[in-house]
Amino acid sequence: MSKINLLSSKIYNRISAGEVVDRPYSVVKELVENSIDAGATSINIDIENGGISSIVITDNGSGIEKSELKKAILPHATSKISSLKDLDNICSLGFRGEALASIASVSKLKIESKTENQNIGAFILVEGGEIIDSSDCGCSVGTTVTVKTLFYNTPAREKFLRSSRSEESDISSTVARFILGNPNIAFKYTADGKTIYQSFGDGLESAMVNVYGPDVISDCFFIDTQKNGFTIKGYLGKHHFTKGNRSHQTVFINGRYVVNQTISSAISNAYSSYLMKHRYPFYVLNVSMPTSTVDINVHPNKLEVRFSNNQIVYGTIYSVVSKVLDGISEALNIVTPPVQKEPFFKQEKSNIPNEKPYNFTSQTPSFSSFLFSDIKPQPQQDNSQELDIFAENKAYIEKIEKERQQTKETQEQLIIATEQNLKFIGQALNTFLILEDGQDLYLVDQHAAHERLLFDKLISLTNNKKFASQPLLIPFVLNVNNEEFDFINQNIFS
Ligand code: ADP
Ligand code: MG
Repeated sequence: MSKINLLSSKIYNRISAGEVVDRPYSVVKELVENSIDAGATSINIDIENGGISSIVITDNGSGIEKSELKKAILPHATSKISSLKDLDNICSLGFRGEALASIASVSKLKIESKTENQNIGAFILVEGGEIIDSSDCGCSVGTTVTVKTLFYNTPAREKFLRSSRSEESDISSTVARFILGNPNIAFKYTADGKTIYQSFGDGLESAMVNVYGPDVISDCFFIDTQKNGFTIKGYLGKHHFTKGNRSHQTVFINGRYVVNQTISSAISNAYSSYLMKHRYPFYVLNVSMPTSTVDINVHPNKLEVRFSNNQIVYGTIYSVVSKVLDGISEALNIVTPPVQKEPFFKQEKSNIPNEKPYNFTSQTPSFSSFLFSDIKPQPQQDNSQELDIFAENKAYIEKIEKERQQTKETQEQLIIATEQNLKFIGQALNTFLILEDGQDLYLVDQHAAHERLLFDKLISLTNNKKFASQPLLIPFVLNVNNEEFDFINQNIFS
């Protein structure tokens, strides 16, 4: 057995950086959490090249004293807890004192900060964990943390970075969650100079619209209730408002975004009887509970939590969500009807004249309302003569269409029969095709089969990029979130 070494803080920090800051989005997450813990009401996040080249977070929080700046980047340096018993009652997002030390060890980091008590701010510049400069500087109360060339000294980790577009997309999702989880903080997030999100800190409804677009409010139940010592507040998608994946499911516990199996299965099970296969519920829920009943010290990234009593958490959430979905009278105490408000989109609070936010969702409502506002139902006129002419015409077109459809269906019946080596015997009830293969008898719903053939044809055309498209006469406004927008942009057919 070889000799046992005590690792130096430099090596230790690099190792823990692997757990705390594995990708640019985790750097953004840790830094924004620090800003929130510092009591900031306004947080700016600016990234370049998916956060790989640069991440700058500016807040108007409490700031760091000049004398404390060098301490902040030491491992296990935190102002948030001081004793063992504090661990059972954590109210801040951070508490492990690892993030700045980890980030500092794998990047070129600058922290500029000023507290209310100081006349002038101070900065430190750190490269790969070594302080290379520190001095006074001019800045306003709060903190700016700049992270350049992330993982420049850890090639192994750099190799695992995805494309800058993909890293940016993960940062965007992280910021969206911060906006939803902290609706009273104003966030501005830019990527390569473009504003992706801007929230104004004016409440959850506005935050929802900011992230998901204006239609989301009418597609959701707003719930606000207390049960078993928990407060459950947020939005649950109505029965029709389901999604094709789980990326629209957001849970905060005491303001912290978490991924938790107990809560997600309670919600999924409550929805289960209302969901089609491969559809998933939409929700944004903030669950508040006594800090002593939840352990957040499970993983360095603080995404997972453990409850002292899983059953109570499961039962409470399940019961609240199912009451709302089942629409029983008790739900009236849980659901708050939406209040018709002023338009959500405001003038940007920017100093730069004419600067427009990039947030595409903010452009759609004005466009659609402009487009449709003047279209009113036309009064019925007496067009009986005209109608007669059209009726004859219509009947003729319908007849031709029917004949064409019948020929097509017969051809498709033959396709099914030949492709599967089946013998076509006949048709029953104008609905089922009867086929046999010498051993078994098949009843095929011919309309479903026809739809399936069309579907397969479309999929194969799409896969081969041989699709026919036709512009719509009246534009259809589709509100999407940032992730969906990225997806559409990457796959859009020109
Ligand atoms: P933790 O958040 O777990 O305490 P960090 O390494 O993230 O550990 O930060 C270390 C300390 O630096 C924090 O406890 C806090 O005192 C200080 N700090 C970091 N970022 C900020 C900020 N934006 N504003 C004020 N203080 C900060
Ligand atoms: Mg922290």
